[in-house]
Amino acid sequence: MVANGCESDPFSSKDRALLELAPHLVLDGIQVAARAVGATEAYLCLHEGNRSVMAALAERRDAVPVKVVAVPPRYVASEETALVHFLATGDARPTGKFPRPTERGLRGRPTLVHNVETLARFAIVARTGADRSVHTDLVTVTGAVARPGVLEVPADTPISAILARAGGSVTARAVLIGGYGGTWMPRALADPLPLGREPGLSSLHLLPEPNCGLELTRNILFALAGESARQCGPCMFGLPAIAADFADLLSGRDATGRLAHRLPLLSGRGACAHPDGAVRLAASALRVFAADVRAHLTVGSCRITAGAA
Ligand code: SF4
Repeated sequence: MVANGCESDPFSSKDRALLELAPHLVLDGIQVAARAVGATEAYLCLHEGNRSVMAALAERRDAVPVKVVAVPPRYVASEETALVHFLATGDARPTGKFPRPTERGLRGRPTLVHNVETLARFAIVARTGADRSVHTDLVTVTGAVARPGVLEVPADTPISAILARAGGSVTARAVLIGGYGGTWMPRALADPLPLGREPGLSSLHLLPEPNCGLELTRNILFALAGESARQCGPCMFGLPAIAADFADLLSGRDATGRLAHRLPLLSGRGACAHPDGAVRLAASALRVFAADVRAHLTVGSCRITAGAA
């Protein structure tokens, strides 16, 4: 049983908040899951030390002992096959889609890998039953809101209600849903979407009105390219190429044809989903910021300044 508390996405801090504020809930969830699958070993994978977790562990006598493991702070190191590979060999690189860790994982044994928020939910279900009306989700809200931070909201809360809880935003022009490998939505379209309908709806980043969404996307794409584990061609060569295409767009050079050709070639072609997230981000940016693309290509700028990642 492997609990993933790494949280590599810079736009998300919900797992850190959960581990800090309710470590026993996560540890209870690990025990629930371990019992359910008959696990005899449990690991809690983190990028950084967490005193709350260590203090909570010292207070417990669990049936399945939990070992805390420090995983290298790389974006793809927390992918589920990368975690299992790291535990087995010390190499935190993904190993491919098949076999899944649930079929053959650590030391060839079926290995369950879950995010710490999912495990906390298991603990709540074990206590209160599966009544969804009492369940909540954690969402990290950053960017152009009055009160950024991690919010706990009832499941299926609409994005508009989450933003209202974060103090509202009058200046956001678009919302990045799901962080670095997520999807851009125009602010007006994102409002009615309920939480939980889209996988990855764990974070919302609101782009302030004066900032350039293409520039932020370019910065994220370069960051994602730098995080490639460099073992699959489409990821190793494709991600820097689409990041460079976005840099060209920003400089007024038309790379839309290259992007239209490249993006479909990258999707689903890596040993893990890392390139898929980059493609999703890039494709949604081209849709949502289409007017900005035209402005950059015609007048060299959308008259807007830096949105740094
Ligand atoms: S797709 Fe990229 S990150 Fe994933 S295993 Fe291949 S090279 Fe590594």
